[in-house]
Amino acid sequence: MKRLAERNAFITGGGRGIGRAVALRFAREGARVMVVARTEREVASVAEEVRSECGVEAAFASCDVAEAASVAAAFDRAREFFGRGVDVLVNNAGIAESAKFAGTTDELWRRHFGVNLDGTFYCMRAVIPSMVERGWGRIINVASIAGKTGAPYIAAYSASKHGVLGLTRSVALEVASKGVTVNAICPGYVDTEMTTNAVRQITAKTGRSAEEATEAIRRMSPQGRLVTPEEVAALALLLASEDGRGITGQAINVDGGSVLF
Ligand code: NAP
Repeated sequence: MKRLAERNAFITGGGRGIGRAVALRFAREGARVMVVARTEREVASVAEEVRSECGVEAAFASCDVAEAASVAAAFDRAREFFGRGVDVLVNNAGIAESAKFAGTTDELWRRHFGVNLDGTFYCMRAVIPSMVERGWGRIINVASIAGKTGAPYIAAYSASKHGVLGLTRSVALEVASKGVTVNAICPGYVDTEMTTNAVRQITAKTGRSAEEATEAIRRMSPQGRLVTPEEVAALALLLASEDGRGITGQAINVDGGSVLF
């Protein structure tokens, strides 16, 4: 029996990186998936990959999670596609831009809170009532170890991800007796475009080569390596499955041991 047979999964930021890996992993376990992000070309391509590789139905929509109306439209489309409510929501859409704190503009601050925190809130609010009504649901918020610790030049990112953990823990307790679990995954540096952009920013600001910057990032993990998107997807699968029913309100690190709480 596939672990997500008969389940419907809605994945934000599903056009590349971690979101793409989660969509493929869930689909291999039998889930019907819908992927959303702003770049329609990328989510359309992941939906096609899911259909052709995994032989399950997949849908996509262009959606800006920072906009309540855009999120509402995407969930209308999801209800139409699934024919009922969402079983598994993965809030993975996120942005990370670095800036000195004194140079953190209102726009940069609001952009991070808009996508990383408001987006997670809008999507959770869209699914919780039907999950509670059906007595089953899984919400997985992709936060970051930056949601537990701080680091220079990422105040807006780190603060928004701390917010995601507070949201996760509070809602988890509110719905704990209703068959719905709410958890966060806190990755360290993952081998995706987001990390490639971080390397680019380091090289631009410090003059170090891309290889030196990548090596510095690798060394931040006691394992001396980047996490793969598939490793994050493997934890998401556990949390989404029946086996994960006792895990709720948690913020679980996938970071090679760099943060121990
Ligand atoms: P990525 O490769 O840059 O992918 C990010 C995804 O989010 C893309 O599909 C992007 O698509 C989507 N997205 C961004 N803004 C959006 C918006 N306003 N509305 C809807 N979708 C939006 O990054 P990733 O590494 O896979 O990151 C996924 C998640 O993991 C993020 O929440 C990130 O903070 C978290 N994380 C990543 C790392 C890392 O090292 N990579 C570490 C810790 C946590 P569009 O741009 O087309 O919208």
